[in-house]
Amino acid sequence: MDKYDAIIIGSGPAGMGAAFNLRKQSDKLSILILDKTQYSTGGMRNDCKMNFTYPIGFPCEYWTKDEADKYLDMVIEFLNPTMLPKANIDIYQKRAERLGCSLLDIRQTHLGTDGGLQLIKKLLKKLDEQKVELGLDEEMLDIDAVNHTITTTRRTICYNEILIAPGRHGFLFLQKIMNSMNIPFVDNIVDIGFRIETRIEHYPIVNDYYDPKFYFPEKVRTFCTNSGNAHVVKERYITTRGDSWYSLNGHAYSAEAGHNNGLVNFAILKTVRLTAPLASGQVYAENLGLQASLLGGGKPIMQRVGDFRLGSRSKEDTFNNDLYDFEPSQQGCCPGDVSLVCPAKILRSIWSAMKNLDTIVPGILHPSTIMYYPEIKFYANKPTYLDANFKVAEGVHFAGDGAGTSRGITGAWASGIRASQGMLETL
Ligand SMILES: Cc1cc2nc3c(=O)[nH]c(=O)nc-3n(C[C@H](O)[C@H](O)[C@H](O)COP(=O)(O)OP(=O)(O)OC[C@H]3O[C@@H](n4cnc5c(N)ncnc54)[C@H](O)[C@@H]3O)c2cc1C
Repeated sequence: MDKYDAIIIGSGPAGMGAAFNLRKQSDKLSILILDKTQYSTGGMRNDCKMNFTYPIGFPCEYWTKDEADKYLDMVIEFLNPTMLPKANIDIYQKRAERLGCSLLDIRQTHLGTDGGLQLIKKLLKKLDEQKVELGLDEEMLDIDAVNHTITTTRRTICYNEILIAPGRHGFLFLQKIMNSMNIPFVDNIVDIGFRIETRIEHYPIVNDYYDPKFYFPEKVRTFCTNSGNAHVVKERYITTRGDSWYSLNGHAYSAEAGHNNGLVNFAILKTVRLTAPLASGQVYAENLGLQASLLGGGKPIMQRVGDFRLGSRSKEDTFNNDLYDFEPSQQGCCPGDVSLVCPAKILRSIWSAMKNLDTIVPGILHPSTIMYYPEIKFYANKPTYLDANFKVAEGVHFAGDGAGTSRGITGAWASGIRASQGMLETL
């Protein structure tokens, strides 16, 4: 049977952070990274904008500012990013504060989907040079934590330490692992809302600040802004019962790639935490996704702000008339009425935030602006971690977005490093 000192499940940023840190600490360890897809490095393949300021990407229940700063310094040292310039932040901040909102001043870089792929190539070369083994198209199925073995789609492998970092898409897989290992957990939050798309001239702040992070009352925030050569994309989810639905997301190519389509998109999400009587935040959010899919004929819904304000649904034939002056970058959505599918409390909070945003950055409520629904961010149920390094059992650590220890590339990378520090204690 194959045997490794350390196995890392998932080649996303959490897995990369862990692998490079383990190798940095010891050139003797045998390290294997497995990924179920045929290509590597998970969510770094999309847009690859990186935020380097706490609390962006760092859930506060696991990270203090000092801890995050310490690990962010390590991420910066490794990735050596060029931070993007910003302008006029104080003007937007003052406008936001007057409305009871805030704009965070975050250090950022943006590689774009093309630039991210270049970075991934470099990382893979480095892994190879440093003799870290990477197994693609090999999925972890199960774990026997007593005998320190895992079963994959190809074999059984023995480990001393394992890090499981399967990303947001892997939340059901993590749940299965927690159930099989009897790891206690509590329900996690879900973020539910819209992907907004408009012309850059209706959201010109992106010329001053690539990914502006606004916080509004009622737990609403903007998130993941993309502009220039920007596109709204669909992500397919399969429920526990095997039904499929789509969540929206967005990405952009780098400025160097050219082909500026003049559009910007960003998420505006409300954080929902369910309390007793509790079914499950994930199941609730899945059902919202299914409901949107039901009304959209198997597709997500899109509605122009102009139609939304008039209380009428968007229709195929009215969607692109003269007022509605740009084509949606995502053609696989159904023109409809978002208020028929989004719960009132979520819709009210988000619409109120959008009105505030339109006062801070006038233009976003132009009638042509598109509201795509739903955009949902899942996190696995929160395991009870046994220590500060995200250990869940002897020899087993979790990290990354799926495990709830991060919400973005840099946080995932940092949480991978932090988990690997714990793995090193026994290696
Ligand atoms: C369209 C899009 C755009 C985004 N843009 C940005 C952005 O600009 N900036 C930002 O900070 N974040 C962005 N994100 C989020 C970012 O991708 C995540 O925060 C980050 O990738 C999380 O890292 P991770 O290592 O936890 O998981 P992931 O990057 O998701 O990696 C997990 C890996 O585990 C593998 N895996 C899962 N289950 C198994 C299994 N059972 N066996 C083997 N392998 C498995 C998966 O195939 C995947 O490659 C974006 C996400 C999407 C979808």
